[in-house]
Amino acid sequence: MSDDKNTEVQEFQLEADAELRFEVENKNETVVLELKSGLAEIFGTELVKGKSYTFTTGAKIAVFTWQGCTIELRGKKNVSYIARETPMMFYLNCHACLEQLRQKAETDEEVKRGPITMVVGPTDVGKSTLCRILLNYAARMGRTPLFVDLDVGQGQISVPGSIGSILVERPATVEESFSQQAPLVYNFGHTSVNKNLQMFNMVVTRMAEVVLERMQSNKKANTSGIIINTCGWVKGDGYKQLTHSAQAFEVDIILVLDQEKLYNELVRDMPTFVKVVLLPKSGGVVERTKRFRSEVRDSKVRQYFYGGRSPLHPHSFDVRWSDIKVFKVGAPALPDSCMPLGMKAEDHMTKLVPVQPGPNLLHHLLAVSFANSGEEDVIQTNIAGYICVTNVDVENQTLTVLSPQPRPLPDTVLVLSDVQFMDSH
Ligand code: ADP
Repeated sequence: MSDDKNTEVQEFQLEADAELRFEVENKNETVVLELKSGLAEIFGTELVKGKSYTFTTGAKIAVFTWQGCTIELRGKKNVSYIARETPMMFYLNCHACLEQLRQKAETDEEVKRGPITMVVGPTDVGKSTLCRILLNYAARMGRTPLFVDLDVGQGQISVPGSIGSILVERPATVEESFSQQAPLVYNFGHTSVNKNLQMFNMVVTRMAEVVLERMQSNKKANTSGIIINTCGWVKGDGYKQLTHSAQAFEVDIILVLDQEKLYNELVRDMPTFVKVVLLPKSGGVVERTKRFRSEVRDSKVRQYFYGGRSPLHPHSFDVRWSDIKVFKVGAPALPDSCMPLGMKAEDHMTKLVPVQPGPNLLHHLLAVSFANSGEEDVIQTNIAGYICVTNVDVENQTLTVLSPQPRPLPDTVLVLSDVQFMDSH
């Protein structure tokens, strides 16, 4: 932060149960926050008194206090205000209920595992934030829940266009998020589910099988349960997809943010043992424009390769077209009458098709699969990560790729993603 004349220091006194909301709006700006006295938290992570927390462009933050506190903000004057009405008490109650179920799972022989909770609702209602709060509260109590992110538009684990799961062993850091050790990631390849619903359902089913298995093999994770974030497509096929995810993950609880209609549909359609709860959204959740969303996606990919606060140093190297096997998922549609016996036209959406490397790959992400041949079930195999094609040399038949790992690429299948990234480094 520059110490120019526009830099301001503002102090805020917060009463108990109030929150200070602020945004960092302008490019290349930062806001530094410090807790001067009392206790406060940001999306469930406790602040340390006297420590400086720096927020960069795009941050939309709420500092909540259960007891009252004094906060200092340093930076250019940005939108900031204190709100006394928040849904935090509802969210804390949810946490308390989940905690009771975890205790039951520990003590009651009949209860086989901790609660599996799915958070649903339209876009921009605070689904990811609620997941973060619940995971943080669980971690602060010494629990180790699994976090599953099915929101391919944001892709909090790995990059947009993927779904992922991590074990949460400690609260998220204030400025970034949960530690990303050993994530389980599957490639979907699109930032909206409606681009290939069949494939998405297939990948969700597979991920659910693996996550439930992992949960069983780790006693502490098993009692801690799972928190699942979903995407905001809740109408028509999107709704059907949500019920598919609920079934695949054998959810016990669905938390519905903000939408009564969705709540009523789920109460009607879910088996009675699934508890459906309607929760209010926070007035602080900021609606994001399409443009902002796409900028956030871009910065997520940049962060994947170059790191955030702790920089990463990706590798850039050339690979020969003849040395790699690139596929994509989904073949052009054929009418049913042209399909081989027993195959439906919709099966083409989950078909693996070889892709000839060339200029068509420029700027695209490629998922590095753990599968080493096209025959293996590539869609249902998790991935090691992503590389990005930064240059295509037609004359020499090579690609330049940006990769978190040094060369050579593993001798496995690469799957083309729709997601693109312009490397400006
Ligand atoms: P969703 O997952 O439903 O799309 P998010 O949880 O990502 O919504 O929230 C949207 C944005 O609003 C995020 O940038 C988040 O930081 C911000 N936000 C959430 N809760 C609050 C709040 N109480 N005050 C201010 N900003 C908030």
